[in-house]
Amino acid sequence: MFTLHHSFATDVPQGVLEQTPDPAPAPALVVFNETLAAQLGLPLDVLRTNGAQWFSGASWPASATPRAMAYAGHQFGGFSPVLGDGRAHLLGEIITPQGARFDLHLKGSGRTAFSRGGDGRAHLAPMLREVLISESMAALGIPTTRALAVATTGRDVLRDGGLKRGAVLARIAASHIRVGTFEYFTSRGDAGSLRALMDHTLARHYPNAEKSAFGLLDSVIAAQSRLIAAWMGVGFVHGVMNTDNMALSGETIDYGPCAFLDAYDEDAVFSSIDHSGRYSYGMQPRILAWNISRLAQSLLPLMEGDETQVIDAANARLDGIAGIYRTQWRAVFARKLGIDVPTSADDALIEGFLPLIQGADFTQSFRALQAAKADGARLSALIPLDRRARLEGWLAQWRARVLQSAGQGDLNAVNPAAIPRNHMVQAALDAAEGGDMAPFHALLEHLQNPFAPEAGREAYALPAPTGYGRYTTYCGT
Ligand code: AMP
Ligand code: MG
Repeated sequence: MFTLHHSFATDVPQGVLEQTPDPAPAPALVVFNETLAAQLGLPLDVLRTNGAQWFSGASWPASATPRAMAYAGHQFGGFSPVLGDGRAHLLGEIITPQGARFDLHLKGSGRTAFSRGGDGRAHLAPMLREVLISESMAALGIPTTRALAVATTGRDVLRDGGLKRGAVLARIAASHIRVGTFEYFTSRGDAGSLRALMDHTLARHYPNAEKSAFGLLDSVIAAQSRLIAAWMGVGFVHGVMNTDNMALSGETIDYGPCAFLDAYDEDAVFSSIDHSGRYSYGMQPRILAWNISRLAQSLLPLMEGDETQVIDAANARLDGIAGIYRTQWRAVFARKLGIDVPTSADDALIEGFLPLIQGADFTQSFRALQAAKADGARLSALIPLDRRARLEGWLAQWRARVLQSAGQGDLNAVNPAAIPRNHMVQAALDAAEGGDMAPFHALLEHLQNPFAPEAGREAYALPAPTGYGRYTTYCGT
């Protein structure tokens, strides 16, 4: 038995269109995340038998109704009133034995009414890339959509002037409700659907919040501030923080041109199309506020009361984002430094560390802190000579602060050794395209154990070799 539910389609019927996935002539299961399937309480035997068919879109379970979801979005600041799932199908919702509800969604499964000029497809490497990065995020403890499976379709896809193997990703998400979903109904003037969407989102993600537009706005501000602070703590650059790629659930969604920092640099950009640096590492907290402003604007028709008071109240929420984010940021970085119960008095210590590691490997620098409690040599070796005296001064202050902290815990349990290094990801994807999945599976295993000791897997903890060059990621994959 494999039962899917359809609460979104029932509650917000104007938000979906029934659309069927493209046929897959020769479906084959390439990745099946049995650990995740088991955590979700899914029937493993049924999925082992049907996975190639169901996860490629060749066929679907009897309880599924494939649908494309409608949404709008601000892309690089410009508004598109109709985007929607142009290459994705929501099959339905899983309810776990614990009662949690998750979307089961296919990406790369063919054209829909929202495809515009696109082919509705995906090829293998970008879908495997999403598996590596989203599973890494999950293991790092960061809210994220998950990768359940990747299936090849047996249909080639034209990309970069060549034919590539077509593939579909089966994705699990708390929901696929985006800031752009709200923008869609507001821009159409469909107040009834907007209210239904708000009620559905509150019931699904924030059952304890006040049942109002402000209750939802406050909840999303809290969840997204926590999320972006967590990204900053691992050096994650999403790359395309458009409002259609920001989930109301507070999960990281849509792994396109994302990448992790090697060298620490607030201005780091990896995406080939982000010429202005709008979505650089250091801009992410500002874009958080910008996107939440779009959400607030979309919710205005649902904010009841005197217009002046409503606008003042909405603006007060927006003004509050910086402080809420700051508290989350402090919590993340204080934890990385081993400081318990941080206060704003710790900000100077945190902010004193970052310039010291400018241009040095972000992940390794934090990973060296555990040893630096006793001996700063490993950390010192990562940074330029002319900064090392300043580092000694900082270390003395830091040690004094950490000694006061009850948190004498192991910082290696907080600061990861293994992140999806761009050069390792690329090597695994190149091998997979050539038919060799071994490097992919080896890398995935390390990413699923990010905090384990480096011994025996040193290569996974090292930055790209010098001369690797600037890493660039691409959209429209
Ligand atoms: P993304 O950049 O993946 O967030 O997608 C932005 C919009 O483009 C969404 O509406 C997608 O559904 C659509 N899109 C992306 N790739 C394709 C494709 N190959 N075919 C059709 N639509 C696509
Ligand atoms: Mg998207």
